[in-house]
Amino acid sequence: MSSSVALRLPSIDGLLRHPACAPLLERHGRESLLASLRQLLDELRSSVLNGQLSAVEISPDVLAGRVAERLAQQQRSNVRRVFNLTGTVLHTNLGRALLPDEAIDAVQMAARYPLNLEFDLASGKRGDRDDLIEGLIRELTGAEAVTVVNNNAAAVLLTLNSLGARKEGIISRGELIEIGGAFRIPDIMARAGVRLHEVGTTNRTHARDYEAAISPRSGLIMRVHASNYSIEGFTARVPTAELAELAHRHGLPLLEDLGSGSLLDLTRWGLPAEPTVRQALLDGADIVTFSGDKLLGGPQAGLIVGRKDLIAKIKKNPLKRALRVDKLTLAALEAVLGLYRDPDRLAERLPSLRLLTRPQADILAQASRLQPAMAEVLGEPWQVSAVQALGMIGSGSQPVARLPSAALCLRPQVSKRLRGRCLLNLEAALRNLPIPVLGRIDDDALWLDLRQLDDEPTWLAQLPQLQVES
Ligand SMILES: *Cc1c(COP(=O)(O)O)cnc(C)c1O
Repeated sequence: MSSSVALRLPSIDGLLRHPACAPLLERHGRESLLASLRQLLDELRSSVLNGQLSAVEISPDVLAGRVAERLAQQQRSNVRRVFNLTGTVLHTNLGRALLPDEAIDAVQMAARYPLNLEFDLASGKRGDRDDLIEGLIRELTGAEAVTVVNNNAAAVLLTLNSLGARKEGIISRGELIEIGGAFRIPDIMARAGVRLHEVGTTNRTHARDYEAAISPRSGLIMRVHASNYSIEGFTARVPTAELAELAHRHGLPLLEDLGSGSLLDLTRWGLPAEPTVRQALLDGADIVTFSGDKLLGGPQAGLIVGRKDLIAKIKKNPLKRALRVDKLTLAALEAVLGLYRDPDRLAERLPSLRLLTRPQADILAQASRLQPAMAEVLGEPWQVSAVQALGMIGSGSQPVARLPSAALCLRPQVSKRLRGRCLLNLEAALRNLPIPVLGRIDDDALWLDLRQLDDEPTWLAQLPQLQVES
């Protein structure tokens, strides 16, 4: 008896008309349903042929159930919400800053309706998209002029190319940094057509080092904020004001890539000091670049602010057109910047600042509140405790500073040999929840830092679905 005879499968037409498939037809449409059914039947036939499946009769109900699972899987979006309990607030891999309601509303409006993106409503003439946010940024930073691009990497590339192409860019060896693998200052300079002229040493660079490098070939002096590391000990760095004075004496512009940058002094909220854009400009930097979705707390964008004549030159570069921001970003950015006009209420209204300033006692109380539920779900082999923990800002802001936070610390009570496997199984189980929960493994435990757990009911509601492989 051949296996094709032994496996009794309903016909495709029969299945399509079967009541079990009716809701699937309604929900996913004929084409998707048909494709999934064909695929499933083909797979069943070949597993019988190669002997993996013995001859059986499969009912339409069973098939409909399997196809329903497949279609649901296909329909699930690849872009998914997660719980970021890693302890890193501005996590690049998890989308950095969360937008405030004001920005979400603005994005909705911009997505739904035509808008004055490049149209001056006052004159009825063509406008410039930068004009939509220029006034606000000037007010908040003291800059003469502004332009916005897709991200800060683009801002640095565009600025370097506009002001330093075919000339030398002078930069300290202590600032030739790499940010997240693909962005390295020497490579970006090369791509921008700027010849790298490195000066000083990794730990110490003096004004005389810059001075000695200046020649008729020089195009600019660059300074980069050491975002993701710190140089400590026997160090020397020329203050921006002194470097600006030196650059200007030789007729060169000073660019400062602040990375995260901040519009306000963060120490007023008890956070570690981060250089502000206003101060960099006051110190004499001619152009300052910074990100929209780091400490600023807005959408992904790169802001370029500074001297009017230099910004005009940057805007004329054809690369600007390739790197420009879209309407959704501009709408969100304007709304976020608007919140900065009222610094007293900023920490309530801007999610990233609200999360960064959450008091440790508050987070610890939350950990204690959630501890029993977590302990119950995990059961015997796990010790679950509510403990103090240290998180970080992330995205290159204050790499060595730690934020006093609190966490659920999940520790497997098994022999040392089994501990690693146990932790990885739990990590995978948390990741497989409907809304994946992401923590961090450290010191033989899995830590769920609760600083960013806003939506406690949703988190708790899905907890019983946790299935840890043993
Ligand atoms: C983060 C960072 C960048 C890149 O900014 P993106 O907005 O991520 O493109 C560039 N320079 C510095 C110093 C940074 O910290």
